[in-house]
Amino acid sequence: MSRALLLSLLVPATASAWEHTQRVWVPEDMPVVWEISDYVEDSLPTGPGTETLTQDIIQKAFDNWHVAECAEFTESFGGVISENLTFTNDGRNTIAFDDPAGELAGGVLGANLTWPSSQVAFVQDGKVYRRSSNSDTVFNNDVDWALTEDVEAGVCSGEHSLEAVATHEFGHLWGLDHSCEEGDPCNNQDWAEATMFWTDSACSTSSNSLNSDDVSGITALYGPYATFQCSNELAPGEDDTIAFGVVPFTLRCNMISKNEEQITGATWFWGDGGTSDQVDADHEYAEPGNYSIQVCFDGVNDACGDWQYCYNKIGYVRACGVPEVEFTYQHVDGLSYKLLNDTDISVYGCISEIQWDIFAPGGALEASIQAWEPEYTFQTEGEYRVVLNVGGPAGTGAAELTVDAVNRAGEGYGGCSATGLASLGSFGLIFLAGLAVRRREG
Ligand SMILES: [Zn+2]
Repeated sequence: MSRALLLSLLVPATASAWEHTQRVWVPEDMPVVWEISDYVEDSLPTGPGTETLTQDIIQKAFDNWHVAECAEFTESFGGVISENLTFTNDGRNTIAFDDPAGELAGGVLGANLTWPSSQVAFVQDGKVYRRSSNSDTVFNNDVDWALTEDVEAGVCSGEHSLEAVATHEFGHLWGLDHSCEEGDPCNNQDWAEATMFWTDSACSTSSNSLNSDDVSGITALYGPYATFQCSNELAPGEDDTIAFGVVPFTLRCNMISKNEEQITGATWFWGDGGTSDQVDADHEYAEPGNYSIQVCFDGVNDACGDWQYCYNKIGYVRACGVPEVEFTYQHVDGLSYKLLNDTDISVYGCISEIQWDIFAPGGALEASIQAWEPEYTFQTEGEYRVVLNVGGPAGTGAAELTVDAVNRAGEGYGGCSATGLASLGSFGLIFLAGLAVRRREG
């Protein structure tokens, strides 16, 4: 129970870089042929060359993805369809503007639906990517659309650039999910400004230009790439694999790539300020912490010359030390006192057990409590020794205080601060024995 409480207190803010839909087009399916509906309704932009204007905008949106020059994916225009289209898994990749079935809710600019086949295209980082079989895109007729040229000229009052939204939707077509979802703490500027950010601002054309997160995401699907694995991994192959160690410890990391022969160098950023420049590298973690590793691999190939691919594992390293235990207490009322836990919880996942041991004035163990900050009522007045033991994978830390329990009305606070004990000594033993008894009691 105390474990569940702790997790809810300690879970750090999560964040992610590019995400994939785990649907991907395979080389045999290239170029991906797209067709466009000729049903032009009045929310669409108008301008010179009206006959092919919408088609030209769509083509530009596809072209925008090809700044990712190391990613090998192609599409081609397959013709105009003279009918009003909706999402249909018919093997034709269609683009439509009227939402005839009314499938898009208000506020939705456009949507892409890509169907996977049952075939596995590849497995990357333990995730199964299926071969895409059909992809349809529908833009909402409830939205006022604008030309990129007009938006850039400042001729815009609340409209959305069709090109910008189409560029985002085609990211989904190719297999990218959002860099940040609605409501996520999107605490990385690059992800917040990505074309694949979950929403698009009115009167903005920024989504026409991919940023490095978008390029990394599509390159991971269609270009040379490399990832890595490290020693000390818990649950290797799972999505939430972490590397765990008790400080100080050395992590050994190896590059993994289907393009291994192209790799010419690497730079590792270990998350604690340290860097390395070997392709396979070691690093010693000396301080407790939750660390993210980024590595940028350099390579060269015939298609795009020099390439660089950066790969992040967020919160990948959990380096635990023995918990640094501190507590204070506060009088509540009568002989009831609140025990206030000031143990350092800045490193996620390094605390799994908590126990307060209360020793009566005669020295006998009066109570053991497994809770983060319990309120405790002493039996009688007197001087009680209170020991807080906090355990985790790196070991157990402890602190103690003497509480002079006085029966009085609940006004004013009495308290002082306990600092960590120099060594575990007998307190560690008390802790372990106490726990063993608890477990037998079930
Ligand atoms: Zn989207």
